[in-house]
Amino acid sequence: MGDASTATPYIKSPADYGEGVDYAAIVIGTGFSGLRMLHELRKLGLSVKVFEKGSKVGGAWYWNNYPGARTDTECWTYILSFSKEIKAEWTWTERYPSQPEVQAYLNFVADRCDMHKDIQFNTAIVGAKWDESTRTWTVLTATGASYTCRFFIPATGALSGSLEPPFPGLNTFQGEWYKTSDWPKDKTVDFLGKRVAVVGTGATGVQVVPIVAHSAASVTVFQRTPNYVLPGRNFYVPEPMNNEVKRNYDQVWGKAMQHVFGFPFDKETRTLASVPDDEERRQILEAGWEAGGFRYVYQTFEDLFYDAKSNEMVSEFVRQKIRAIVKDPKTADLLCPRYPIMAKRPPSGHFYYESFNRPNVSLVDISDSPITEVTKTGLRTATNEYDFDIIIFAVGFDVATGGLTRIDIQGLESTLKEDWGKSLTTYMGVGVSGYPNMFLVAGPHAPASNVPVAVDVMCDWIGKEINYMAKHGYTRIEPSAEAQNEWCKKCASDFEGSLLAKASEEIKSWYIGANVPGKPYSVLLYFGGLQKYLVMAHDEEEAQYPAFRFS
Ligand code: NAP
Repeated sequence: MGDASTATPYIKSPADYGEGVDYAAIVIGTGFSGLRMLHELRKLGLSVKVFEKGSKVGGAWYWNNYPGARTDTECWTYILSFSKEIKAEWTWTERYPSQPEVQAYLNFVADRCDMHKDIQFNTAIVGAKWDESTRTWTVLTATGASYTCRFFIPATGALSGSLEPPFPGLNTFQGEWYKTSDWPKDKTVDFLGKRVAVVGTGATGVQVVPIVAHSAASVTVFQRTPNYVLPGRNFYVPEPMNNEVKRNYDQVWGKAMQHVFGFPFDKETRTLASVPDDEERRQILEAGWEAGGFRYVYQTFEDLFYDAKSNEMVSEFVRQKIRAIVKDPKTADLLCPRYPIMAKRPPSGHFYYESFNRPNVSLVDISDSPITEVTKTGLRTATNEYDFDIIIFAVGFDVATGGLTRIDIQGLESTLKEDWGKSLTTYMGVGVSGYPNMFLVAGPHAPASNVPVAVDVMCDWIGKEINYMAKHGYTRIEPSAEAQNEWCKKCASDFEGSLLAKASEEIKSWYIGANVPGKPYSVLLYFGGLQKYLVMAHDEEEAQYPAFRFS
């Protein structure tokens, strides 16, 4: 897919779009989306600069280096698929690679493609301003330097706007505290014999707990809303399996492209009604549970997303597993979610529920008794006080929009922060009306999907559009307000048709931004499926981009 985009390259030299500006394109970020975008723009022949706040490539995989961090996507589709050589040379060791391995992989890609020379590290971008008269963007760094470009591509991803612990008194705490999303890079945190608190039980928190429990004197987990934690069932990838994947990479990737969530799974057509026998249903769920991770939801009953009865059966099966694993019935009961499975993104766990059978791990339910402050010695809830040596905050992100609204991005008439403070608007997650020559990757309204696959689709599309502009001599592109409105309606209606929407507000899911106080509720990703998104992108290209205005 990636290499087809510039079958006929219309950009003849780096001076095309690079005349009169510092760079033809400026990209922010070196996660999967930033590196994939850099590759696409270079392939077009454009001059590119990538600015990265961290000191190494990785993006979310650089910052989130907390203990236990690993993917919950199987390694064979957690890749940048554009290079046959890299696919042949790189060998993953685990089914779900750990954070150090993912970061090493991204570094390997950057080295192998000689990308470092186009990346400026330790440089935070704080602003970007469109100038209509020159049709350029001016991008501003935190140290006051500014650079001009034709195309501005903040590839900030979904998880670059991390939330701060929202509790008063944090600066009075006399122990150590850490944010999982900004874990120390220059020291190893020592938990040995320490009393540790973990606040937050999302995908991050549930990965931290079992690892810290090995050495800490005690781990106290503060849970506001329980999650459906699916068993990861990680394993070391045997050589024959790796070889087999390498031989069939094109098929594996092609299959992922056709899957609703970007996984290389067969399309599931089984509904609850199609399996009337209770024992057979149980066996299907058992097989999904054994397969682990997202296979539990995507390879059991496909109607769990819209049929309440089906969803309840799949949800109840997890509750039964929790009760079977966790010995203390009260703790098990507190760990059981009551909302429909998938209404929050289910994390993959690696002995999370089992941790609660250890004598040094305990659960504090704060659903009715919230944390009110951090004290000198620990945490205070509405009803109790706890002492700790270390507090770990795993409280989540201002997903999708946060990484962008924290940059002062000024378009034709307003800023993204002002516009999205009213309502979230994009066209298919790649452009925003009022922000010419700006492309987004893996941000708001990107397909809800295994990220590297969605990134590949989006970067391919952006590359093709820029190439189309070059072919016709255009220097300005902007999605039309009409196309944008239609797309936003589609995002909302495709989401509202599912069971997930009904529960999202109640459980304050990040799907609609409800986890961030004051953020207007709006579905943040496109939940219609990657495959449908791909078809729409293809149709748009075939019809020569009718949703965009060129000049
Ligand atoms: P999250 O899923 O939003 O979880 C945040 C947790 O913090 C929730 O349990 C939340 O409780 C809790 N919390 C927030 N504010 C709180 C407060 N004031 N008091 C008490 N608890 C509070 O965030 P995350 O775990 O960082 O994960 C975010 C997303 O990142 C995931 O859904 C996933 O997409 C991605 N991720 C992926 C991986 C992976 O691939 N392996 C790993 C980590 C993260 P409530 O639920 O009650 O709001």
